[in-house]
Amino acid sequence: MRKNAIRTNCFLAFSVLVFGALLSGCAGKEKAADDGKLNVMTSFYPVYDFTVKVGGDKVNVKDMVPAGTEPHDWEPGTRDIADLEEADVFVYSGAGMEHWTESVIHSLDNKDLLIVEASKGISLREGHGEEEEGEEEHDHGEFDPHVWLDPQNAKKEMENIKDALCKADPDHKDYYESNYKTYSEKLDRLDQSFKETLAAVPNKSIVVSHEAYGYLCAAYGLTQVGIEGLAPDSEPDPARMAEVIDFVRENKVKTIFFEELASPKVAEAIAKETGAKTEVLNPIEGLSDEELKAGEDYISVMEKNLAALKEALE
Ligand code: ZN
Repeated sequence: MRKNAIRTNCFLAFSVLVFGALLSGCAGKEKAADDGKLNVMTSFYPVYDFTVKVGGDKVNVKDMVPAGTEPHDWEPGTRDIADLEEADVFVYSGAGMEHWTESVIHSLDNKDLLIVEASKGISLREGHGEEEEGEEEHDHGEFDPHVWLDPQNAKKEMENIKDALCKADPDHKDYYESNYKTYSEKLDRLDQSFKETLAAVPNKSIVVSHEAYGYLCAAYGLTQVGIEGLAPDSEPDPARMAEVIDFVRENKVKTIFFEELASPKVAEAIAKETGAKTEVLNPIEGLSDEELKAGEDYISVMEKNLAALKEALE
């Protein structure tokens, strides 16, 4: 009786497996044939936007991190892994931003997936912000991952994405090249307006909630003082707060920048203490639903950032 029960169970399990395999086989085929477009998964907003711009209507792009979510602590769930198994291309920024990529990529069965580390070829800044060892959950490894905030780096990421799309879908190579050309020229113009505007401002120090602007500052001769380290929401200690307050007073900093996806509490406390005001500077780690609905993208938000910097540093 027992033996029989086990046998029956084994048979059932086997049938379920075979049936499941048949089903997923069919689903896979249907999916591949659906609209003839490349299915691209991206790890968070900036590389999503760059992929949409280059891929246009020849690709389906799905961003893994939901709108309005801060990506530093985010990790993919089972739905995301299932999507990656079905995808043709996976784009991530790299340089340590997405700490989960290595283990997730190793775990995938999708051997045809073209994997693109968009920051490849960019010279990386050291991640000095996380020196204290101990309970550092937000350790990004050895590099500052916020490469995309320098428009020239954004251009390089877009180029790497363009190369990957051309490789995965050579029939539309000219289309991807032409989109890349259009947007790389826009990024050059953005870079030029950052150069001209920031060269003309008398003050060069910005106080920001987390140190996302290392590449931007290096490109345009600014210095950032971060209330927190390379990742937001790591509570600053009172000593750090006092240092920042001293810095604000000594350098007559008029504006304390905060960002929409993290709490403005600490920036507000420092502003109150020093008489400075608070203003948004967006590290473009993710856009809110409202921003996306309003048609904002990397370039439009960077233009707002530039206006905010100009006002704060004049
Ligand atoms: Zn960050």
